Amino acid sequence: MSFLDRLAKGAERLLGKGQCALGFHKGEWDYLRPDRCEQEVNCARCGLQTRVKHESYTSWEEDAQDACREIRHCERCAEEDARSNHDFVDQGPKRPGDCRTFTQACRKCREKKEKRYSKPKHRWGSWQANPGATNEMFRVCNHCGEKEFDAIKESK
Ligand SMILES: [Zn+2]
Ligand SMILES: [Zn+2]
Ligand SMILES: [Zn+2]
Ligand SMILES: [Zn+2]
Repeated sequence: MSFLDRLAKGAERLLGKGQCALGFHKGEWDYLRPDRCEQEVNCARCGLQTRVKHESYTSWEEDAQDACREIRHCERCAEEDARSNHDFVDQGPKRPGDCRTFTQACRKCREKKEKRYSKPKHRWGSWQANPGATNEMFRVCNHCGEKEFDAIKESK
């Protein structure tokens, strides 16, 4: 075998190992039993491997015991999968002077969490004419004091 061939073989072995580490084995996965999700493959590179794979699930449904939880089941083995299903709404700014960070509470179970918005959610007061400039109005955020200016449009 030439040096290059050996290099190529080595690279393939290394690459193959990497593939196996990522779960891409050389061979076909087979289910062991029709009502279970354990699978095995006799990999040409690393030997016998097993895993559990739930292929398809029923659609998400609200858990009858808990309105803030959704469940679904594996269509093959009935394994349960759950995710939370809270309905968070803003309660108000968390800190004075900060219009980005809000306290939220779940409408259903009252669980609280903190939510940080990428854009501030100001609480604007009403527009008022700017005494220092012509045809300009401004409004002030009641929470953080930020000001916003705009032109007063001529009414015809
Ligand atoms: Zn393998
Ligand atoms: Zn399953
Ligand atoms: Zn909830
Ligand atoms: Zn503000």
